[in-house]
Amino acid sequence: MHEISLATALIDLVHEQAAAARARRVTRLVLEIGTLSHVDAHALRFAVDAAALGGPAEGATLEIQEPEGTAYCLDCETSVAISARGAPCPRCGGVKLLVQSGDEMRLKEMEVV
Ligand SMILES: [Zn+2]
Repeated sequence: MHEISLATALIDLVHEQAAAARARRVTRLVLEIGTLSHVDAHALRFAVDAAALGGPAEGATLEIQEPEGTAYCLDCETSVAISARGAPCPRCGGVKLLVQSGDEMRLKEMEVV
């Protein structure tokens, strides 16, 4: 499953950064997962909890932010919010859209002690 490999890579990164900061424990993680990234936030939450077991990030508070996708509509010549890749323009119904954001997946913040 996609979310498991994502969670494993994320926890590897968290462990690396925690070691670099000489942290004993990771208390909070903030992830940014765009709504167009095809990642299920609930599945990701379970996968991250599982991947963190036995390590410094075990039991860390996990906050997942899901910023809305935006695209530039070539018909309206404006930026519009879209909820899915391939969705038509909510203003004019056009389909000539260039995705601008919403597919990002990143570790936005982490707190350690
Ligand atoms: Zn449009």
